[in-house]
Amino acid sequence: MTMASTTSPLLVLLSAMAVAALVAAPVSSADLPSTFADIASKIPNPWSAFRNLTGCHFGEEQQGVAKLKDYLAHFGYLPESSGFTDIFDADLEEAIKVYQRNFGLNITGVMDATTVAQMMAPRCGVADVINGTSTMGASSHAHGRNLYSYFPGSPSWPRSKKRLTYAITDTAATTIDRATLSRVFARAFARWSAATTLNFTETASARDADITIGFHAGDHGDGEAFDGPLGTLAHAFSPTDGRFHLDAAEAWVAAGDVSRASSDVAVDLESVAVHEIGHLLGLGHSSEPGAIMYPTITSRTRKVDLASDDVVGIQSLYGGNPNFKGVPTTTPATSSRDMDSGAAGARSRPWDALVAVLAAAAGLVVAL
Ligand SMILES: [Zn+2]
Ligand SMILES: [Zn+2]
Repeated sequence: MTMASTTSPLLVLLSAMAVAALVAAPVSSADLPSTFADIASKIPNPWSAFRNLTGCHFGEEQQGVAKLKDYLAHFGYLPESSGFTDIFDADLEEAIKVYQRNFGLNITGVMDATTVAQMMAPRCGVADVINGTSTMGASSHAHGRNLYSYFPGSPSWPRSKKRLTYAITDTAATTIDRATLSRVFARAFARWSAATTLNFTETASARDADITIGFHAGDHGDGEAFDGPLGTLAHAFSPTDGRFHLDAAEAWVAAGDVSRASSDVAVDLESVAVHEIGHLLGLGHSSEPGAIMYPTITSRTRKVDLASDDVVGIQSLYGGNPNFKGVPTTTPATSSRDMDSGAAGARSRPWDALVAVLAAAAGLVVAL
């Protein structure tokens, strides 16, 4: 056995780590928790083909660019068109920049890996840009340091109407039993009533209800067809429409720990419900990754606590509940906190750890 072969395992290990660090580097500088990018890139979803566009930029022509334009048009970043081409034009570059700004990514105008991962993440079907105006706060800085937003014209329920009723109306397309659904939605509504002067009561009759909740598959008549597992998860209409639709094709988890679900595409029902209720009450999307109103959520993730960004937004519309105890300051020890914690802390931590391991393996002492 030669000297080279006895040392090679260590070299291989170190070089593999170096490669991992190099691959990791572009992601670590971005605004995504690493687990999020990993999961988004591994699980098949309606937007998986965006992976093939990684690196695509202005001036190129590549198959799949038209689909990317469809996606960006759906969420308001481009005007709708039935005749998009596969040419990466200036309008697409500008749309990607607005998207990147909304999601706190590096504003490159290029389909870099982080942007691709973010676009593949399961998300709410409600647009981020409505009538050409970005509703996400990062673009406007309209609320000081807060990043919440309202729909154009700031529609809300009448100030005098403190008691809203909701009915769970379309359940034929889901296997979740009715009692479980009632419990999940009651908890989700309670998170908003805790912060405001609003109260929510379930009622049996859709005719009497301010808000109706239903599970639907595919095209269900409102022009916002669902797309099967992941992709868009749900959507809701601004006040005082009251419609809240969930994609019946999702692997919804309505009870138990979603992070231990057997399915890679499991989605926590209560987490999505809390988000959609925000829309029903008048909130648009937020650029704050820790906010409930951030547009994306990772599968197998629970995210149900209002962030201060959500609370300030909703209280500005409806007033505060004097008994509100504030947003939780402790961090539950679940994987979902990768999304919940937001901000700089959660973004670079896994890569710091990788660099530390690499440094230790190489016998280096570095200040991290
Ligand atoms: Zn939404
Ligand atoms: Zn719908």
